[in-house]
Amino acid sequence: MGFLTGKRALIVGVATDRSIAWGIAQAMRREGASLALSYANDKFKERVVPLAETVSALTLPLDVSSDAQIATAFEHLRHEWGSLDILVHAVAFAPREALAGSFIDNTSREAFQIAHDISSYSLTALTRAAVPLMVGRAAAVLTLSYLGAVRSLPSYNVMGLAKASLEANVRFLAADLGPRGIRVNGISAGPVKTLAAAGITGFRKMLARVAEVAPLRRNVTLEDVGNAAAFLCSDLAAGITGEILYVDSGFSTVGMSFPLEAEG
Ligand code: NAD
Repeated sequence: MGFLTGKRALIVGVATDRSIAWGIAQAMRREGASLALSYANDKFKERVVPLAETVSALTLPLDVSSDAQIATAFEHLRHEWGSLDILVHAVAFAPREALAGSFIDNTSREAFQIAHDISSYSLTALTRAAVPLMVGRAAAVLTLSYLGAVRSLPSYNVMGLAKASLEANVRFLAADLGPRGIRVNGISAGPVKTLAAAGITGFRKMLARVAEVAPLRRNVTLEDVGNAAAFLCSDLAAGITGEILYVDSGFSTVGMSFPLEAEG
């Protein structure tokens, strides 16, 4: 019997079979959870519905920038399930031109607002809508962050600020919801080649750098992140909230990084 048997999970952020959210969906399904997968619009619906069928998941439309769609989605879940144990938020977006070159030159007011709305505020909005279905159920909320929240990195730019906001969001939500038995955590994942990552200039160099100098000398896989997510959202992690767990081959733990192997 899997350690998520009997749990119901809404996973927001599957776009393709390379999405981190898809790795999470597969791990949670393997551990016995019942799943609902959302898609952002009709373009993604075509990709998400066939994936959902392979894990027997419900599907529903959910653009996180729309309060009306958020309300409809959770009403749909209330009708289908009556309760919810797990909410996974694996959503981020910033205009492409803001994810390249100089931070100061390329961060417009509009790009700042969009990045923070879609990538951070949406966690507050989704969690608020989920709470009525979660109270009294040892429920868990999980989001996905990146090292750019706490370190500057080339090209990541305004998304780093949005991730810093997202990580603060985790702590404030955890403080609010802990007394109601709901845990809120984040995973700071190492770089993974996904649709969203393709929008970041120089992303391939980030992958190469991790493989070269991270303690594990490899990039993380969807399975690595999916397994950690399943654990954090399970009762095995009942004492953990307000936390950001790094699943990054140890990259964030090294102070100075150069590959000794290359020098022989
Ligand atoms: P992805 O492109 O597969 O997923 C991003 C998702 O965001 C897509 O499903 C997209 O539909 C969704 N999205 C964007 N705007 C939306 C909106 N308005 N409403 C609803 N959904 C919307 O890419 P991914 O890399 O799997 O990203 C998932 C999360 O993981 C993001 O928060 C990302 O920042 C984070 N993350 C990614 C990496 C990486 O290297 N890929 C590393 C650390 C953290």
